Amino acid sequence: MQGAALTLYNSLTRSMEPFAPLDPEKGARVYSCGPTVYNYAHLGNLRAYVFTDTLGRTLSWKGYPLTHVINITDVGHLTSDADAGDDKMEAAARAQAKSIWDIAAHYTEAFKRNLKDLNVREPSRWSVATDHIAEMIAFAEKIAPEHCYELETGLYFDTSTVPDYGRLAGNQDDVREGRIDPVAGKRHPQDFAIWRKSPPGEQRLMEWNSPWGVGAPGWHLECSVMSLKYLGAPFDIHTGGIDHREIHHPNEIAQNQAYCGCGDSGSHFWMHNNFLVDRQGKMSKSKGGFTTLQSLIDAGVHPLAYRLMCLQAHYRSELEFSAENLAAALTRLKRLAITVSALRDKAADANAGPAPQPVAALLDEFDAAISDDLNTARALVALDAVLALKRVDPAAQLAAALRMDDVLGLRLETLSRQELRLRPASAGITAEAIEAQLAQRKQARAEKDFTRSDALRDALAEAGVEVMDGDPLGWDWRIAL
Ligand code: AMP
Ligand code: ZN
Repeated sequence: MQGAALTLYNSLTRSMEPFAPLDPEKGARVYSCGPTVYNYAHLGNLRAYVFTDTLGRTLSWKGYPLTHVINITDVGHLTSDADAGDDKMEAAARAQAKSIWDIAAHYTEAFKRNLKDLNVREPSRWSVATDHIAEMIAFAEKIAPEHCYELETGLYFDTSTVPDYGRLAGNQDDVREGRIDPVAGKRHPQDFAIWRKSPPGEQRLMEWNSPWGVGAPGWHLECSVMSLKYLGAPFDIHTGGIDHREIHHPNEIAQNQAYCGCGDSGSHFWMHNNFLVDRQGKMSKSKGGFTTLQSLIDAGVHPLAYRLMCLQAHYRSELEFSAENLAAALTRLKRLAITVSALRDKAADANAGPAPQPVAALLDEFDAAISDDLNTARALVALDAVLALKRVDPAAQLAAALRMDDVLGLRLETLSRQELRLRPASAGITAEAIEAQLAQRKQARAEKDFTRSDALRDALAEAGVEVMDGDPLGWDWRIAL
């Protein structure tokens, strides 16, 4: 389906722009800043990949072949996005008394598991920073003569050597300077490390030889090197969370400009998802006490409810995480799963011909919504509407809903009511035991033995099971969160 023209918000120009691949033969080339694998991803991090997945699925829906690269940061990201603090990987390895490689492998695997649970499609390529050290050094060697200077602590990029430094961040120098910790000898506060030398007499857990001495690459270098290597320059879309608009991406752009010897930022579009926040503010890994996807699953919440919660908001709006928001998304997801499965039963012997007019109109509305800078909230309304249509061929309705789900990624084709009812890890009672007690209670009620039926209900409540008489979605019970 081609339909409406795809329009995306470009953070670089701060405006909506029509999207078409720069090279139609290559299709859409997208690079997403990946996780720093020193800890589990929190739900905010995962919002960033629900966003990139929605973007990728939309590009596929529009018929563009997609090449998507996500990197894994296993070196260089300091505890501050600027040049201060410890390397996050080193700090985690020391704190957990494990090797950096074990830390990276463990959290990379956990991250990939999260994406699977969220039905995020695999990228065309995962690229790991430490697999590209030689290329990072070669890149730095090329730009160093004209754009860098060496200090005792490392090789620094002189941001005054490229045009329009910080354009992406909106050139808010006053704000930016205040946030960047000073490094003795830097020519400008915004200058940043390309290579960080190991302090004399100190051995880092990860270090490599370079023309500037033993050390490790600066964090921004990896994304310039890997995006240009795998996608060519300029490519189509670079994504990340909105925090990257301030430091990481302006620095990548500066490096890309230096490397190509031109004004080009390296990517046509720069797109940023807004934060997931909770009542205490932005979720962050370094704050600790963050909520992981696994903690939701352990509490009995299906991970796709979190995906739906993300889709209910626009990716450029802040989204507040709350138990109520999540419970509402879970209920909506249940309703979708039940409706689709009922349609499946009805559609079994119907033939899906061309979409009847009301279905076709809603497919167009869905297309218009996602083409409007990925307006998933509006797209979900089109899905609801197609499912609510009366007196149309159920096979056509089902086909349209599943087509829409190609973009939404809620697995509506297979998701069942039973699958949505997860048993919390802490629950001390099995589903079989609950069903058996509920059967006894039903019997007691049939015999009008209300004392016994109430006692059974109380016993279940004691075990954390809420009996749901007359639940509109047909659930008899749930484990209270
Ligand atoms: P990190 O693992 O810290 O490198 O971050 C991975 C991705 O998550 C980056 O694109 C960040 O910009 C993004 N991110 C970090 N915190 C949040 C948040 N609270 N909400 C949404 N995205 C976030
Ligand atoms: Zn990056």
